[in-house]
Amino acid sequence: MNINWKQIESKYYMYAVRRQPVVIVRGKGTKVWDDDGKEYLDFTSGWAVNNVGHANSVVAEAIAGQAETLLQTSNQFYTVPQLQLAQLLVDNSCLDKVFICNSGAEANEGAVKLARKYGKVHLNGAYQVITALNSFHGRTLAMTAATGQAHYQEPYQPVPEGFPHVPYGDIDALKLATTDKTAAIMLEPVQGEGGVNVPSLDYLEAVRAWCDEKNILLIFDEVQTGIGRLGTLFGYQIFGVEPDVMTLAKGLGGGVPIGAFLAKEQASVFEPKGEHGSTFGGNALTSAAAYASTKYVLDNDLCQKAKDDGEYLGRVLNDMKARLDGVKDVRGIGLLWAMEFQSDLASELYSVCIDDGLLLGLLGSNSIRLMPPLTVESEEIDQAVQILERGITKVYK
Ligand code: PLP
Repeated sequence: MNINWKQIESKYYMYAVRRQPVVIVRGKGTKVWDDDGKEYLDFTSGWAVNNVGHANSVVAEAIAGQAETLLQTSNQFYTVPQLQLAQLLVDNSCLDKVFICNSGAEANEGAVKLARKYGKVHLNGAYQVITALNSFHGRTLAMTAATGQAHYQEPYQPVPEGFPHVPYGDIDALKLATTDKTAAIMLEPVQGEGGVNVPSLDYLEAVRAWCDEKNILLIFDEVQTGIGRLGTLFGYQIFGVEPDVMTLAKGLGGGVPIGAFLAKEQASVFEPKGEHGSTFGGNALTSAAAYASTKYVLDNDLCQKAKDDGEYLGRVLNDMKARLDGVKDVRGIGLLWAMEFQSDLASELYSVCIDDGLLLGLLGSNSIRLMPPLTVESEEIDQAVQILERGITKVYK
């Protein structure tokens, strides 16, 4: 008989996250199984984390091998996996230096600290980081303030100041918000959690030119868009617009908790006086997993695969939009897509799809997000789309 995990959670676990009635016990590739043995297609990838698929054997082997060798040391010492990962990330990006941490929010905190120090040293004490409305940058107190969605801040006011918000895609608003207090602009190259909003190339190019004109830093939060998700290893590469600082997490570790921020040489302004650090950041275990996972993405050309599969998925979703009454909009790039509906029945659709064996992300009350592992097979895309269409036909009849 199955243990009632739902009851155990309600007794012991803080009620901070609403769960679906599914206990996931196992995964392989795009598929996961619950404690009743029911199979699901995972088109959430643990929120864009399992880019190389669940239980990837190359990553599992790297984790097992590292666990038997060395898990962690104090950061007074060099460790090989950390430096191998650093070299891989720098050699494959436009950035020069990296610092490894444990999550996306922590990576963004590090990037903002870097920008504030840069402002202190080079910009007369400028400290503000302009971010976009509808952005999502994490849930630490400062990243809650950086996130341009008031409902995340409301329970914790006053949140740290220094994060003016402007509409995403509006270069004039960005220029108006820039003052002598501005140290940096921080944007997601494609807004993920805020609705899968793909900006125009003109916008990102204009932001880059504005940062150059004002000598301020451009930070790209690539926590969700990095590591192949948009069809290039880093999202900025698809737009051809280079940041001064870039943050990563999610897909970086193939499932283990890890984050990183990278910077151009001139923006790497920390000094070894306790200005930044982390007990677990860049530990041997998660670094070995991230090295194996990122190398797997590169060795297996998963970026090109994500681009091709994403074009196919986009075509099929747009075809559904043309045929089905309930669908209002389809947006996306690579393997990050959103479907918006005419009415607020997305959570009903989401539950119907779970019952039918498809896990999706819910975006507000009227949209869903699809972000399968980059290893997804074309039959799995077809299967997922069939389940989605059955669900839409049922819910939006
Ligand atoms: N930045 C972006 C763009 C994200 O999508 C997320 C998480 O969804 C974060 C930051 C926060 O990452 P984490 O949950 O690892 O702290």
